[in-house]
Amino acid sequence: MSEPRRRLRVAILGSTGSVGASTLEVVARHPERFEVFGLTSHRRVAELVEQCLSFKPRIAVLPDRAQAQAARQALAERGATATEVLEGPEALCQLARAPEVDAVMAAIVGAAGLPACLAAAAAGKRLLLANKEALVVGGGLFMRAVAEGGATLLPIDSEHSAIFQCLPEDRRTWKRRIDHLVLTASGGPFRQRAPDSLHGVTPQEAVAHPNWVMGRKISVDSASMMNKALEVIEARWLFDLEPAQVRVVIHPQSIIHSMVVCRDASVLAQLGTPDMRVPIAYGLSFPERIASGAPALDFTRLQGLSFEPVDERLFPGLALAWQALAAAPGTTAVLNAANEVAVEAFLQGTIRFTDIHSVNAHTLERVEPRLAADHGLGDLLDLDRRARVEAERVVHARAAGRH
Ligand code: NAD
Ligand code: MG
Repeated sequence: MSEPRRRLRVAILGSTGSVGASTLEVVARHPERFEVFGLTSHRRVAELVEQCLSFKPRIAVLPDRAQAQAARQALAERGATATEVLEGPEALCQLARAPEVDAVMAAIVGAAGLPACLAAAAAGKRLLLANKEALVVGGGLFMRAVAEGGATLLPIDSEHSAIFQCLPEDRRTWKRRIDHLVLTASGGPFRQRAPDSLHGVTPQEAVAHPNWVMGRKISVDSASMMNKALEVIEARWLFDLEPAQVRVVIHPQSIIHSMVVCRDASVLAQLGTPDMRVPIAYGLSFPERIASGAPALDFTRLQGLSFEPVDERLFPGLALAWQALAAAPGTTAVLNAANEVAVEAFLQGTIRFTDIHSVNAHTLERVEPRLAADHGLGDLLDLDRRARVEAERVVHARAAGRH
């Protein structure tokens, strides 16, 4: 008889988000394999409290004292004593590196998730990375922290998980076999629009993704294809390739999640229904496979798979990925910061959808990274702040120009 295995203790950073909630769904299917050690949220106290009542984590984290107090009180009123509520950004890092934690799901949105990702990497955790912005900002520093900490980095972004599923072994052996990668993109809600018709689109239209239900920021990024730009940068780092080895094709059905084109012209692809529980389950169980809850593809009902090139007039932001990768180190962090500011301004109604690209392009032109070769997290956070200040300036200029 085999020994009962110890359950994997999981911390989910950003548990109240779309990826966070899907992670809890997969975890809940396998109570014999997984135990929730920590949950975190940036707002939504009531939702975090409900998650704590269901999953009884040891630790919950909220960003400030007021929200933490509200959560403590709500938990006490419901007689829940299992969970200690911590507050502030440092508590995220503390949770990510806690010795009791085996696996960290990084599902925070934006550069805000970088310090905790680095803490998990340095502590040698199994690091499930959904938070692509953290890798776009962290770049080589992030990958060095993973290598030096002995962490196992498992991509959760569906495209990168697809590539990883095609090449599950040691990354040193991948490089010899790969000619290039093809990241698939759905094209989002505006794929069939005329380029000059996009200036008037509303946040509501932009977040209505045809194939995936996701958080607001990534949904806007999908509509502008800045999401794919971030994913090109993410792939460059995850798979240690030249930027020109990462290519993009539009595949509106989101059935092929991405492809590896080998040196011999053989193409490996991973297919499935568009459901984040699949890459999440793979990250949690790698190298095994467990039930994810997602329905399998029914090939008898598939209407066909189609592909088309990206129209650069419709999606001018995509090219910024290769531009930023070719520029000085740190330029991808500038691009990410500008885009975070621009998307928020668009969601707030301050700028137009088409202004997102001009904020990004202008900020890239104006902010020089000036990173030393041995830069650390503090230098990246400074650069992120400088880029945000410049992007805010462009946002205000754009907003003023509209009136
Ligand atoms: P979301 O907006 O639904 O959730 C974000 C989570 O992060 C929430 O729990 C929120 O409370 C927390 N958070 C937000 N700002 C924070 C801050 N400043 N500090 C600490 N916590 C903060 O986002 P999502 O769609 O779940 O996406 C999360 C990440 O996963 C993003 O990087 C996204 O690009 C990536 N991703 C998402 C999907 C998807 O299907 N949703 C797919 C691939 C990759
Ligand atoms: Mg993706």
